[in-house]
Amino acid sequence: MRRKIAAGNWKMNGTGAALAELDAIAAGLPTAPPEVVICPPAPLLFRAAKVAAAAGLSIGAQDCHMQTSGAFTGDISAQMIADTGATFVIVGHSERREAHAESDSDVRAKAKAAWAADLTPIICIGEELDEREANNTLDIIGGQLAGSVPDAVTATNTVIAYEPIWAIGTGKVPSLDQIIEVHDFIRAQLTKRFGAQIGNALPLLYGGSVKPDNAAHIFAAGNVDGFLVGGASLTARDFLPIISALT
Ligand code: PEP
Repeated sequence: MRRKIAAGNWKMNGTGAALAELDAIAAGLPTAPPEVVICPPAPLLFRAAKVAAAAGLSIGAQDCHMQTSGAFTGDISAQMIADTGATFVIVGHSERREAHAESDSDVRAKAKAAWAADLTPIICIGEELDEREANNTLDIIGGQLAGSVPDAVTATNTVIAYEPIWAIGTGKVPSLDQIIEVHDFIRAQLTKRFGAQIGNALPLLYGGSVKPDNAAHIFAAGNVDGFLVGGASLTARDFLPIISALT
């Protein structure tokens, strides 16, 4: 049985008042819930981790720097994130890859930095619409996996999130067959590179316009072990049905 994970990426949304959503999520969790990871903006990490510890939730950051310290104005290191009580960090989100020109090798270095701080990286990969339309999806995904996932992956130290860029925040969702094709491909690449024991254990999340009304349908796809959710993770009202779809 693989871990099931519902991860919420709040992006640049929320001030202290939003922490009430964590209590509401904790209060509404189904019996035998999946792991629930909330990734709030960095200024909320410390307070969120305090709330989460009592509530059975985990907290993650949305990015980390690959260095432990130094002259990197505005950046935060994986050690600083761990010091807040957070235990996960998203690396290589397409918004970071695009707006901050992050390359696969940057993402790989960030994943290693996360491990060094005892954080679990959620490594994001995904194709652009024109890449899909040119039938290049699997080539792109294969290249991102090879470039972004470091060699020292274990069965428990990493989570992979497939997020087609054209599905993020757009309300457009790939067909179930398209999701199955990519998730099966990722699983095959992971088992080829890391062996069956590790490759079959790594959780693969789907992300891109997951909503309460499509979560159960997407979870029916083979090799989908959970979700990385943006907009619909901002309120307990929307996120709880998505969490429940994983039970
Ligand atoms: C995301 O930002 O990772 C994401 C999947 O966003 P949304 O769920 O809003 O499409």
